[in-house]
Amino acid sequence: MMAFCRWCGLFCAAVLAAAPLHAQDMRPAEKVVLQLKWKHQFQFAGYYAALKKGYYRDAGFVVDIREAQDGVDPVDSVLKGEAEFGIGASELALYRAQGRPVVVLAVILQHSPLTLIVRGGGLNSVHDLEGKRIMLLPQETELYAYLEREKLPRRRIVEVPHSFSTDDLVKGRVDALSGYSTDEPYVLKRLGVPYSLFSPRSGGIDFYGDTLFTSEALVRRDPQRVAAFREASLRGWQYAMDNPGEIADLIIERYGRRHSREHLLFEAEEMRRLMQPHLISVGHINPGRWRSIAEVYAEAGMLPAQYSLDGFIFDETLPRDLSRLYRGLAVAILAIALVTLFAWRQAVFNRRLRGEVTRRRDANERLQRQLAEIQGLQEQLQEQALRDSLTGLYNRRYFDDVLERELALARRQHYPVSLVMIDIDHFKQLNDSHGHQAGDAVLRELAKYLTDNSRAGDLICRWGGEEFVAVMPHTPLSGAIRRAEFWRSSFAAHPFSFGGPEFGNTLSAGVAVWPGDGDTPEDLLRAADRALYRAKSGGRNRVESAAQEGQPC
Ligand code: GH3
Ligand code: MG
Ligand code: MG
Repeated sequence: MMAFCRWCGLFCAAVLAAAPLHAQDMRPAEKVVLQLKWKHQFQFAGYYAALKKGYYRDAGFVVDIREAQDGVDPVDSVLKGEAEFGIGASELALYRAQGRPVVVLAVILQHSPLTLIVRGGGLNSVHDLEGKRIMLLPQETELYAYLEREKLPRRRIVEVPHSFSTDDLVKGRVDALSGYSTDEPYVLKRLGVPYSLFSPRSGGIDFYGDTLFTSEALVRRDPQRVAAFREASLRGWQYAMDNPGEIADLIIERYGRRHSREHLLFEAEEMRRLMQPHLISVGHINPGRWRSIAEVYAEAGMLPAQYSLDGFIFDETLPRDLSRLYRGLAVAILAIALVTLFAWRQAVFNRRLRGEVTRRRDANERLQRQLAEIQGLQEQLQEQALRDSLTGLYNRRYFDDVLERELALARRQHYPVSLVMIDIDHFKQLNDSHGHQAGDAVLRELAKYLTDNSRAGDLICRWGGEEFVAVMPHTPLSGAIRRAEFWRSSFAAHPFSFGGPEFGNTLSAGVAVWPGDGDTPEDLLRAADRALYRAKSGGRNRVESAAQEGQPC
């Protein structure tokens, strides 16, 4: 879920960063391109004014006004989506009837200024242009219709690509060119070059001039935005026609010095005649005029008899096409679903991972416990291997090790180590009289007694059968004899009874000491054994030392 929230945050940040916010209504300003049909001049004054005076900005647009380049048809640019808006003229009706989805927003020039400008003043009729070199633009269909109506088909003239320069006409590189009555005549007059104008109006063709248009796709997507652009543009036109001098200066300053101020103002005045702002509000569209324009095209054979102009004129009351919005929503929902799915899968994976980690930790702890148990068991087994099972005392094997170690230590540190070897007297007889179990019990009791009554550093071991041995570090012979005598007398005084009549028993002991009675463990043991033998042979129930051979203790 954390990842999802992060994703949403990034998404919103990206959307906000994509475009600057429009200050007035907090809506992101929309970048649009307006494709002109000619070079920068007063012909497009209204759009420059709308930009300069902030009308576009107020409507939420950032507008890039692009002048015509060689080979660029504004209709193509708008329909391909390279520009949102374009400036066309009557050819828009022809294109629409041919199925190209353009929509006209505002007619600026109520009468077309388009004309054929011919070098030389003496031409009487347009037919004199037969075989002549003429610069035309492909979209100037009004002129093609005019030529058709005048029975001068295009194949009988030599069409030359338009250079947008009157100079070609002045220098005689072409015989005629298409131009605006509002524009080129000014130059020719100034240069004193004689010229003739052949206007389609002279042939009875009264077409619309400059027209603001867009694509049907844009209208469907957001008719309110299109209407807002149209309104801002018309405000610009109103301003430009009220303040032509200011806009002429703006064009020179901002869009280049191709035309002089005087030329621009000439153009403004000529345009005023064609716009008729005192009679018709700027931008007004008469559907009937568009129908008659289409009929002229049909008559010239440029359209079939059956054609449709439905949807050609902008109607801002059209319901907004929400399909893009729905598509966007669908994509957003899908993205959210994918992110949620991913987050869910991640959560499941993390849960499994945590489970696996816990399982392995538990298994590891179990293993550690088992290892500890095994270790304990091993230690127990090792211990058992060194212990006598009947009495629990250390056995002879362990005793051998201890004696060896104690003597080595005593040798280095120079202290005495005594050894007492004990043997129960007539034990066979005891077994025979009271049973083997009673014998075992006597062995266990004596073992406990000896252990309980020895010093902390002493070690009592079962030597084998009914024999025990005690090793006593730091104990001289006298101390060892005293201790052995104490054991002997206590044992002799102790009565035993195992369910039957009481009985007593005695033990004999032999004592030897290092360093006096032997140097090695074997020597010492032999000496103690010899002393024990003497105790036995001396009548039993007595303690003998190796050093006092022959004398009773
Ligand atoms: P002595 O006074 O000469 O030592 O006579 P003894 O009978 O004690 O000596 P002997 O060596 O003849 O007999 C030892 C006996 O100890 C033989 C054996 O049955 C008995 N014995 C040895 N180990 C055990 C044991 O673990 N339990 C029992 N109950 N008796 C044992
Ligand atoms: Mg014995
Ligand atoms: Mg014995």
